[in-house]
Amino acid sequence: MKFVGAHVSASGGVDQAVIRAHEIEATAFALFTKNQRQWKAAPLPVEVIDKFKMACEQYGYGPGQILPHDSYLINLGHPEMEALEKSRDAFLDEVQRCEQLGLTLLNFHPGSHLKQIDEDLCLARIAESINIVLDKTQGVTAVIENTAGQGSNLGFKFEHLAAIIAGVEDKSRVGVCIDTCHAFAGGYDLRTEEDCQRTFKEFDEVVGFNYLRGMHLNDAKSGFDSRVDRHHSLGEGNIGKTVFSYIMRDPRFDNIPLILETVNPDIWPEEIAWLKSQQ
Ligand SMILES: [Zn+2]
Ligand SMILES: [Zn+2]
Repeated sequence: MKFVGAHVSASGGVDQAVIRAHEIEATAFALFTKNQRQWKAAPLPVEVIDKFKMACEQYGYGPGQILPHDSYLINLGHPEMEALEKSRDAFLDEVQRCEQLGLTLLNFHPGSHLKQIDEDLCLARIAESINIVLDKTQGVTAVIENTAGQGSNLGFKFEHLAAIIAGVEDKSRVGVCIDTCHAFAGGYDLRTEEDCQRTFKEFDEVVGFNYLRGMHLNDAKSGFDSRVDRHHSLGEGNIGKTVFSYIMRDPRFDNIPLILETVNPDIWPEEIAWLKSQQ
């Protein structure tokens, strides 16, 4: 089965995200369980948790079709102890919110060294952050997203993802999400069928498809290997439609959320319908 959807708004409550996903005929969706630009959020009210679970049941979304995303403020590889602690606490809160909602995946950007510590130390610190939080929680998998490598963000090389996974003690609760725009901007070509074959072969060798828990399907306004993160609608950017058709036809991408974070939500219904038609 292919599960296709978009990162929908949760304004008005997380239960509203489920309804929005259903409205665009999505079979998967992503959401923020709190305001992604704030450190603190009020706990999820019991009524909202119930409404969320009921809506998921009503519209047929299981936890394997839902890929929540954490706050952009969190840096699990922060070079400074105090800021690192703050990020770890916020990440723990994010995982606990997923637990409360009955969700099993949490997607996050690995972290940044801010040019203050070297890459290896930062990657080890990210793994340690994941260990600390997994130790205190149950049933939620930490899903590391590859990045475009903007600024000092790590995670733009498959080797970075592999190094973090290597440092995580509970391998059953760590996985990855590959964003096509980020991969392309990070130097992994996806423009032709052969590029897709080569890039995903490399992914399989370095990380392994057994760790793949989700995909972000985005075309790129930014150029190949530009290390700039700018999403575009499918087929309108520098990657083109080939990779998206390729993913829809390849069984290695079955049974995981395939999530649009493309720039024009008005055309998500068409993008979702087109993706479904490619199978
Ligand atoms: Zn993404
Ligand atoms: Zn992005």
